[in-house]
Amino acid sequence: MDINLNINELLKYGLKSGIMNKADYVYNANVLIAMFNRHKFEPIETEERPVEAILDDMAIFAYHAHLISSNDVVIMDNFKAAVMDVLLDKPQSVINKFNFLLAKDAVSATDYLYDLSKKSNYIQTKRIAQNVSWKQTVEYGELEMTINLSKPEKDPKMIAMQLGQRSTTYPKCQLCVENEGYRGTGAYDGRSNMRIIPITLNNEPWYFQYSPYSYFNEHSIVLHQEHKPMIIDRTTFVKLLDFLDLFPTYFVGSNAGLPIVGGSILDHEHFQSGKHHFPIEKAKGKLVEKKEEVSVYQLVWPLSTIRLRSANKTEIIDLANKILLKWQDYENKELSLCNSNGEPHHTLTPISRKEGKDYVLDLILRSNFTNEEFPGGVFHPHADCHHVKKENIGLIEAMGMGILPPRLKIEFGLITKILLGSEELIKDLRLTKHLSWIQELKPKFTAVDDPMEFVQKEAGLVFSKALKDAGVFKMDPAGQKAFSDFIKKAIT
Ligand SMILES: [Zn+2]
Repeated sequence: MDINLNINELLKYGLKSGIMNKADYVYNANVLIAMFNRHKFEPIETEERPVEAILDDMAIFAYHAHLISSNDVVIMDNFKAAVMDVLLDKPQSVINKFNFLLAKDAVSATDYLYDLSKKSNYIQTKRIAQNVSWKQTVEYGELEMTINLSKPEKDPKMIAMQLGQRSTTYPKCQLCVENEGYRGTGAYDGRSNMRIIPITLNNEPWYFQYSPYSYFNEHSIVLHQEHKPMIIDRTTFVKLLDFLDLFPTYFVGSNAGLPIVGGSILDHEHFQSGKHHFPIEKAKGKLVEKKEEVSVYQLVWPLSTIRLRSANKTEIIDLANKILLKWQDYENKELSLCNSNGEPHHTLTPISRKEGKDYVLDLILRSNFTNEEFPGGVFHPHADCHHVKKENIGLIEAMGMGILPPRLKIEFGLITKILLGSEELIKDLRLTKHLSWIQELKPKFTAVDDPMEFVQKEAGLVFSKALKDAGVFKMDPAGQKAFSDFIKKAIT
């Protein structure tokens, strides 16, 4: 191990990638040697190596030199992020560059920050490239499936428990502005190398940053300056459309603000955005009515979705709000759409984007009602889907991208071996939750099938079933009739 060599390599990477200036070379070298308890820096010639490899070596050195307490992945990652931070511009310089570019053109500004987020290893592109992805053709379109290896599976019950518990930790949550530059702990991911940009939405202070998990191209997070709960009301539509005025090439959407149908973080108001065209965009829409300047469509999509399209910002916001209010009051006991026990159950997952001069708002109707038959949620993936998907159907999934838990990579591998004849593997405890599914798969599997492709496709169908479970008006004739009746009433 030669830390002087690694520091040389890292500085060379910093200059070559353009994330640091030549004028900062000596200064950064001195900050780096201090991080490794050295008192001397010797400039030497080095070969080029990927930055991940250089950082790995530096973290291993730090562990052996007792500069970090453990070689646990979180502690090593936090240390690497702090090392990278030495090379990066401080927040104000990044904000200045971003705003200078934004004044000319939004794409250059987001390109700059996205590129910086990757080069600084904040978005770990190499790790993300290990995710497993495939497309899933279904009767209403083509879903996008990913086994995500970078984020742990969360239990909806744990998410609900976190809501309302005033956090005494610092930062209060992973979305708080206090994360910028935070070094992290053994149980908390550091954000030393993250940079966030202040923006204004609905005349309120908000921030824009990229997601380190990068589920899709330019996956970004828009967060309120204050740590306050998610809410869906008229101002949500104003904020989303204000965001589109700033970044017209991005989509932006909000999770619902209620447990079961919301995302994994309910206690900090935030949106997700990015440059990606999700399957829902391609969903077929039936024009229901043109209401002044707003066209209203009923989508063919497993989660009941109303699409509004208009170049008139005020009109589209007003109509979206009208639909929200009508939906919050809606009841149809035959369809288990109950609302009268004093608690709010109905809300929306709104998604917006610009198409030419038009604003497009997809309003996904949600209900978090529970009953004896479905204590986890009537409109939530039912028990028969939990072996593949038990988490909430949040914004990204509602748009047709299945984010499946990392455990499935190994479990699917074992299932393919069983399909190919290794029957004894059925005793593996990791497969207990899949047992009845495996029995269903066996007779369907044929010698011409690629076993992994076969298992993935079948898992995609389970995900599609989970989406249908989450739909408030089912895709059958009775459900679709009730849906169009609701739309007509809601917009008049
Ligand atoms: Zn927060």
